[in-house]
Amino acid sequence: MIEAACHCGAVKLTAPAAPDTVTECNCSICRKLAARWAYYSPSDVGLPRAGSTQPYVWGDRMLAFHRCKTCGVTTHWQSLDGAQDRMAINARLVDGLDWTAMRVRQFDGAATWKYLDEA
Ligand SMILES: [Zn+2]
Repeated sequence: MIEAACHCGAVKLTAPAAPDTVTECNCSICRKLAARWAYYSPSDVGLPRAGSTQPYVWGDRMLAFHRCKTCGVTTHWQSLDGAQDRMAINARLVDGLDWTAMRVRQFDGAATWKYLDEA
């Protein structure tokens, strides 16, 4: 079990296991957030208290990016269309992860929607 917590601690998420791979995406928002995403099935994630986050939704309105209402740290995103059995936790919020053992993949969300290490 891992826990991801924002800076002030008001927003916490849990997941069954630490990721062995995270994704950095170069799309217009992810590169500004500098998040490292760990993907989980929504059914495996313990979500934060309702109302503790503020969602940010834009563009094609596929995803909601959630940030803490108090400290502003981006904690996770969730799919809005319900079709995706996937959400992401910002793995940078998990204390004690061994980043030297982590695979960090680069996703080209800005253009090709492919992993750049798959070329
Ligand atoms: Zn906070």
